[in-house]
Amino acid sequence: MLRGSCLCGGVAFEIAKAVGPFELCHCPRCRKASGSAFVAALGVRVEDFELLSGAELIRTFELPVRDNPPPYGVAFCDRCGSPVPRVPDVDDAVEWFEVPAGLLDGDPLVTPDRHIFVEAKSPWFEITDSIPRLTREELRALRSGRPPGG
Ligand SMILES: [Zn+2]
Ligand SMILES: [Zn+2]
Repeated sequence: MLRGSCLCGGVAFEIAKAVGPFELCHCPRCRKASGSAFVAALGVRVEDFELLSGAELIRTFELPVRDNPPPYGVAFCDRCGSPVPRVPDVDDAVEWFEVPAGLLDGDPLVTPDRHIFVEAKSPWFEITDSIPRLTREELRALRSGRPPGG
């Protein structure tokens, strides 16, 4: 079991297994939401996730969609402001969702798969590792199973 929590410890959770994808997102929304160069988002199956405490502390913010769909939302701890997992509702009928990897206490035993939205990355941050670097268009193609531009 892999444990994770927010800065104050109020929101705590447990993950049976991290499956990925594990993505480092450089999009402007993630940069602002995190105050950092990118968000490290680790894919976890809904059935493998358990919220141990702090449901009452979790607040969400939904960014109004203007000209940049898809919609964007964040969840955070009302006491300490840390990002926390945005646990899907049962009616969302999703199989997996993303957990902010920085919240984890232990080793998820998976490493980042790719940088995404690299065309929007901070000018002051240089990517120096060798994992794939995908633009928004390349990511869209990957997720839809089509080649970029196709
Ligand atoms: Zn907290
Ligand atoms: Zn992002």
